[in-house]
Amino acid sequence: MVHVRSSLAGLRSYVPGRKVPGAAVLASNESPYGLLPGVAARLAELAGGLARYPDMGAGRLVDALAAHHGVAAGRIAVGAGSSEVCAQLLHTVVDPGSEVVFGWRSFEAYPILTAVAGGVAVRVPLRDHAQDLPAMAAAVTGRTRLIFVCNPNNPTSTAVGARALRDFADRVPEHVLIVVDEAYREYADPAADALDLLGDRPNVAVVRTFSKAYALAGLRVGYCVGPADVIAQARKTQIPFSVTALAQEAAVAALLDRAEVARRCALTVAERERVTRELRALGHDLPSSQANFVWLPLGRDSDAFAAHCLGEGVVVRAFPGEGVRVTIGLPEENSAFLALAEAWASAPT
Ligand code: PMP
Repeated sequence: MVHVRSSLAGLRSYVPGRKVPGAAVLASNESPYGLLPGVAARLAELAGGLARYPDMGAGRLVDALAAHHGVAAGRIAVGAGSSEVCAQLLHTVVDPGSEVVFGWRSFEAYPILTAVAGGVAVRVPLRDHAQDLPAMAAAVTGRTRLIFVCNPNNPTSTAVGARALRDFADRVPEHVLIVVDEAYREYADPAADALDLLGDRPNVAVVRTFSKAYALAGLRVGYCVGPADVIAQARKTQIPFSVTALAQEAAVAALLDRAEVARRCALTVAERERVTRELRALGHDLPSSQANFVWLPLGRDSDAFAAHCLGEGVVVRAFPGEGVRVTIGLPEENSAFLALAEAWASAPT
């Protein structure tokens, strides 16, 4: 029998949201609006070139991102989704047994990617559904190599503000890489943009994705902007050609469709506020969301609530014993969900 790493024995696989044909899928924080028009047109042109390998350095995409953010191309690493970019950053700094700090609960890939990189996860409990940055800074030891700050936080939807983020970065020693995961940046308060606030620090990398606001979750492309020396090392850890030719070109086209992205994000934010208001009116005590989803802290009722929704054709994501995450979809999908939440609230217990 092949010897398998012992650290995999206790590791649970990532659990994706369910896909149920015909249902309103509000479980995976995707865009409900379909491909951006410019992306669809560009993809149709590219089929003929797919027999060849893609540009390994993703030059056109890296240049487009550098222009988009006003930084040097050498400060950008790309990957097959921001999940792969997070893995690259871990593989850049983690030695066997290094500690990786993150708030918990947060993005479920962090503990998996940390373990696979040979690191030890250090989970710092959230406080009022938000990341406790002072406690995270206090958790740093001589073995800490990386801290994930998921902002806004998945699945609890809250974001830490500019002041808290800056104070935190001031407290963390420079040998520790701070990775601000901004997968949901486009839906959040612009004042806490980590690139604006911390982009010039020698130990800060900001991770972004094309999977959410840019509606490209199925093509897998993400990136980070970080210090040039870190990025040069991170690029070595990328699986060769992991960002496909279609993904590279779709992402370039998506960056050009900025007005449409902004329009869609504004719709999602308006819907998020409506959903939040109506859920609060039903008596739910949910935190204010800065993302494209809301968090219902239903505790023991989480599974039953999700099953109630699924039974009526709406897929939401339960975190058993904690809460339910509901992606903001199309207005009619959100209304269907709200009707189910209302039926739940008025059902005899
Ligand atoms: N970071 C966060 C906080 C996320 O919620 C997700 C997706 N759920 C990702 C990263 C990864 O997204 P992708 O790999 O599709 O870019």
